[in-house]
Amino acid sequence: MQNIYSECTLCHRRCRVDRSVKVGFCSMPDRIYLSRAALHHWEEPPISGTRGSGTIFFSGSSLGCVFCQNREISCGRIGKEVSVMRLAEIMLELQNQGAHNINFVTPTHYAPSVREAILLAKDMGLSVPTVYNTGSYDTVEALRALDGVIDIYLPDLKYYLPKTAEELSGAPDYPTVARLAIAEMVRQTGAPVLDGEGIMKRGTIVRLLLLPGRVAEAKLSLKYLYETYGDNIYVSLMSQYTPMPGMKSPLDRAVTRSEYRDLLEYAERLGVKNGFTQQHGTASESFIPPFDLTGV
Ligand code: SF4
Repeated sequence: MQNIYSECTLCHRRCRVDRSVKVGFCSMPDRIYLSRAALHHWEEPPISGTRGSGTIFFSGSSLGCVFCQNREISCGRIGKEVSVMRLAEIMLELQNQGAHNINFVTPTHYAPSVREAILLAKDMGLSVPTVYNTGSYDTVEALRALDGVIDIYLPDLKYYLPKTAEELSGAPDYPTVARLAIAEMVRQTGAPVLDGEGIMKRGTIVRLLLLPGRVAEAKLSLKYLYETYGDNIYVSLMSQYTPMPGMKSPLDRAVTRSEYRDLLEYAERLGVKNGFTQQHGTASESFIPPFDLTGV
């Protein structure tokens, strides 16, 4: 899988560039760049638990959403180069700090290195589950190479309509690509497995970030997920959208209380049981940790 970097097709941009000499859409070379590695308490309860999730934030992004809350790292402006061995060591350091799991955030463009580092870390004593926290623009081939290495998938389903995906991420094929990617993830993990304390050991949690003015589209995504997977996955209904400076209406405001309530009531009418919600009013930059190279 390492050779994929020489003609990169790790995501559906399929740039086919040799990342040892040139960068593609994600703006990142074949060397790993990280912006932060620390315990994080803002994930879903079975991921954060009581001690926190060992999150490792990668620099760069293959989607480049216009509303991205992690813009400073998604553009690759912040990051420190680390070796595969150092990435494995970081996993062990987070495990030693008490992390319930190791959570790779936006790992798509580094999938082969993540796989290699996990295998090394396991040889060195890594025993907590691994979490692949992705925007879901991964190719199915790239995900297949992670089968047996990743325990938990935490994918977004950002858009239902190609038009929205084009407008906000320049990726009209995103809805189709993300559905195929999520199907592969669920195939790998099977139904959710939680321990006696409610901490997830295996499974898939799909995140739906409600965008302002787009409740109808979020309902279509939720309906699709529930009709396709029922209670074989968890769905996380997120209201934390935080407008970044310069956004145009309606993306220049937070989600209203009534928009979020509308989505929650719809989930209830559908009969969704395996779901997570957020307390309204939590839309703040507190969800965005400082990308100051902590733990790197
Ligand atoms: S990861 Fe995606 S965006 Fe980055 S170079 Fe590869 S195909 Fe292009």
